Amino acid sequence: MGRPGKTYGTGWNEERLELLFYAETCSRIRCIPLTRTRTHDAWAWKDEANGTFSVKSCYKMATKELWEGVDMVPNLFCVLPSGFWKSIWHLPLLSRGLEIDENCFLCGSEEEDVYHALVDCSRLKQVWDEARYNFASRFYHSSLIEWMGMEWLKWSEEQRCHFVIALYRIGECRNRRKVSQEASNFNGLWNCVERCWDENVIARALVGNDLKVPSILRWEKPKFPYIKLNVDAAMKENGDGAIGGVLRDWDGLVTGAFISSTPNLDDVVMVGALAVEKGMKVAREAGMKDIIVKCDSRLVVDMLNARYGFLECAIRVQML
Ligand SMILES: [Zn+2]
Repeated sequence: MGRPGKTYGTGWNEERLELLFYAETCSRIRCIPLTRTRTHDAWAWKDEANGTFSVKSCYKMATKELWEGVDMVPNLFCVLPSGFWKSIWHLPLLSRGLEIDENCFLCGSEEEDVYHALVDCSRLKQVWDEARYNFASRFYHSSLIEWMGMEWLKWSEEQRCHFVIALYRIGECRNRRKVSQEASNFNGLWNCVERCWDENVIARALVGNDLKVPSILRWEKPKFPYIKLNVDAAMKENGDGAIGGVLRDWDGLVTGAFISSTPNLDDVVMVGALAVEKGMKVAREAGMKDIIVKCDSRLVVDMLNARYGFLECAIRVQML
């Protein structure tokens, strides 16, 4: 639109139209009503309704063909009637008085769909940025299934597991906040994810590797010069932990004891590991060196004996 030499246009630039388009196209262009407000000519990106260019939009265009070949509901033994999905989206619930607040309750600025709630919310940016793996490709997508469809096969098994556990933890945090108004705390999320994955690796390695359970479960004196440390841990529903332990010598005499609370870790294995660590500190401060540690969590025992360096001291931890 516009005429050369003029700031604002008041009609189609006939010269340019005829130069650029065939006569038929020109007549169609002339049928497009012009805006009443005088504006500058501007470039518009034709693939977005608002005309704004974005890398996301570009990516969507580039992968459109690929997506058209993907069956979103495979193994379906019937054909979905046309308009099926649309009819669900257009259920007249709002008109029946069901006012649904669709805004995200965390950031309050965007509609809360699955992708937003688990990935795209501005409150989660830091969480995803801090992941051990690079999840930056999320910026190019607008749905979870689309992101996974495009990236999943490129990810290692460990990355996929981290991803899935993180989604679960994020969902859990959000729900907790929504239901109980608890402040959602995404701090340390990846620590939890990595711990969960580590536990899983250990637990998988142990499948079929049964421990010998003693026929009589009772406390036995350690042999001289060992001190036996028995520890236990407990966790409240809200994630607060408590630990305690007793040190006894070869005669069965108590040489030390402790109780303590732990920070809110929301992680029972970690609380168990802290019990062992605290017990070792108490023993070391009292000058005891030869320690046998007993606790009742197989995961704690296996993780401490494996490559996980929770403890400052090299010790052998045993099941109760
Ligand atoms: Zn949000």
